[in-house]
Amino acid sequence: MKAAVLSSAGHVRIDSVPDPKPAPREVVVEVQACGICATDVHIFDGDFVSRYPLVPGHELSGVVVEVGSQVKDIAGAAGQLKVGDRVAVDPSVYCLDCHYCRTNRGNHCERWNAYGVTLSGGFAEYIAVQARNVFKVENLTPTQAAFIEPISCCVYGLRRLALREGDEVLVVGSGAIGLQLGQLLRRGGAARVVMLDPREERLQLAGKLGLPDTVLADGNAEARLRAVAPFGFDAVVDASGNARAVEGMFRHLKPTGKALFFGVCAKDDTIKLSPFDVYKNDWTILGSFALCYTFDPAVRLLEGGVLDVEPLVSHRLPLDDFPAALEMLRRGEGVKLQIIPRE
Ligand SMILES: [Zn+2]
Ligand SMILES: [Zn+2]
Repeated sequence: MKAAVLSSAGHVRIDSVPDPKPAPREVVVEVQACGICATDVHIFDGDFVSRYPLVPGHELSGVVVEVGSQVKDIAGAAGQLKVGDRVAVDPSVYCLDCHYCRTNRGNHCERWNAYGVTLSGGFAEYIAVQARNVFKVENLTPTQAAFIEPISCCVYGLRRLALREGDEVLVVGSGAIGLQLGQLLRRGGAARVVMLDPREERLQLAGKLGLPDTVLADGNAEARLRAVAPFGFDAVVDASGNARAVEGMFRHLKPTGKALFFGVCAKDDTIKLSPFDVYKNDWTILGSFALCYTFDPAVRLLEGGVLDVEPLVSHRLPLDDFPAALEMLRRGEGVKLQIIPRE
């Protein structure tokens, strides 16, 4: 089969690799859509937790084409999987035995792995995955279902944030992930969600997705934000992964406010932050890494129509265009780019 292979950091090629075979408790999924996100750019740059060679791609949906010999013996939904099922894949592979796995913190598993990050992922025609990672998505298109992974990361971030009803929230960055977070926040009890981005067209897209409060991040953003929220915000969420934007978000945080670091900054980025300000303002600083048992709620939020993702898709590209798509993402072109491997 064809796959995008990162031979080492900074080197990608479209290559022919052996077709995957399912282990006894695995299924093989024909990939129908796989989203590219900023994490893939970090993985390409060697700036994440990945090992090489690697087939990246962690936001995938598709159809089951082969079922391992013991899958039918697995209790529960995973054991009912059969050829032809339309599915999305939770990329998280936990050991289930370590301290963190035994205390519901699988995303900090001492032997943490993820399809497309440390194990072969979805920028390929087929992928073999543990049956327990596979979720049926009867009522979603492949394009929609490829959003379940980023949504499940957003759900985890929202759980970390633990918003109070009526909170006013600023989302820094209106790319694909900011626009998913914004919709979930808006429908999750926030009185107001203000979207900040330097690109006018992304703010227009926010408006179409039910997020009409937008501020253009230009030279006057500071004054505009002060005008819309004179006391600052109850919560500020970074969805930009830009260290300077993360540094700046504290200027808009109210005393007792919460700052959520959601976007992925580079590993060696640093910010300047006054410990006195954190102390004096009763601030809470939160991180949010990947997802943690939040895949199923993400399926239900999307199937329940709580958020709209199709308008986020700016490009659907064949596998051969994966290297070019990475560079488009780096340049900030488009919103959500998806690879359709078998087109
Ligand atoms: Zn992602
Ligand atoms: Zn573990």
